[in-house]
Amino acid sequence: MTTPLSQLGEFGLIDRLRRRFDTPPEGIVGIGDDAAVFPGPDGRGEVVTTDMFVEGIHYDFAYVPLHLLGWKVVSATLSDVAAMRAQPKFFFLSMALSNRFTVEGVDAVYDGIAAACQYYDTHLLGGDTTTIRSGSVFHGVGIGEELPARITYRKGARPGDLICVSGNLGAAFLGLHVLEREKEVLRDTHGAAPHLDKYRYLLERYLRPVARFDIVRTLNEETVTTTAMIDISDGLSSDLLHILHQSQVGCDIYEDRLPIDPLTFKTALEFNLSPATCVLHGGEDYELLFTVPAEQESRVNRIPDISVIGRIVADPAHRIFHTTGGGKAALTAQGWDSFLKKQAASDTE
Ligand SMILES: [Mg+2]
Repeated sequence: MTTPLSQLGEFGLIDRLRRRFDTPPEGIVGIGDDAAVFPGPDGRGEVVTTDMFVEGIHYDFAYVPLHLLGWKVVSATLSDVAAMRAQPKFFFLSMALSNRFTVEGVDAVYDGIAAACQYYDTHLLGGDTTTIRSGSVFHGVGIGEELPARITYRKGARPGDLICVSGNLGAAFLGLHVLEREKEVLRDTHGAAPHLDKYRYLLERYLRPVARFDIVRTLNEETVTTTAMIDISDGLSSDLLHILHQSQVGCDIYEDRLPIDPLTFKTALEFNLSPATCVLHGGEDYELLFTVPAEQESRVNRIPDISVIGRIVADPAHRIFHTTGGGKAALTAQGWDSFLKKQAASDTE
């Protein structure tokens, strides 16, 4: 009798694997945060994270240009370094390619890798290359560092803290919806589809995400204390629940405070989706979600591009989403789960 992986789900599997290993020694943080942290030689904290991208699961070459895939692998990986409130330093890229790939194709991926490494002032130090029977896999390793006092984990949120988020949410999710709808057109026209210009912002948010080190820098300049932090890769709801779970607290969040771009709002309605659902559960935003002590509210309010969406409360069972109409709903995770997605993909093949 065997158990399908989908029965455990991604987080169940991670928990199961973590239990096999001893807790790391004092001062070292392993599985369970955006990145692992261990002490460096000069007293700084070293931050290490890895991210894997599989063709057909995380990207589709029908609408993802090669150079933007390279950019996205670096940005998504380094976003987990930003989520520790650390600075990026080094990057490793490994890949498994089928013989369908050409030298020019690999060059194009590396154009994006190089552009992103330059943008983030991060050096590519190496990686592994191997073959695969079909498709492709890219695996990034991001390394960063920061003073231990600044590094922020998921577990430090306290009752009364403000829940803050950078940028706006839901745009990448709708960008993906547009690309999926237009997949055949894009394949036939080799990506040239002027009628998609009106969705440009959404497509860019999906295809060319940016890790928010600018927000990390501003928080440092404004000396804002962050008690917990995560990046939004799976969706606001599931990533906020990670902070709540690890900090053993609850929350109140408010629909009317959720940051949404007007184009995201409009396009959600075009797809018959609730804009709030796209913001809550969309995923791949790569924005930062963090908690700040209430007494620093004026400091946070001075920073453009940060929204306060709610508050942390003591009761871990209290996870309430307050709707604009005055209603209340329990906050549940409906974000991205690799195994469920994979399951759905194979079910339809
Ligand atoms: Mg993360």
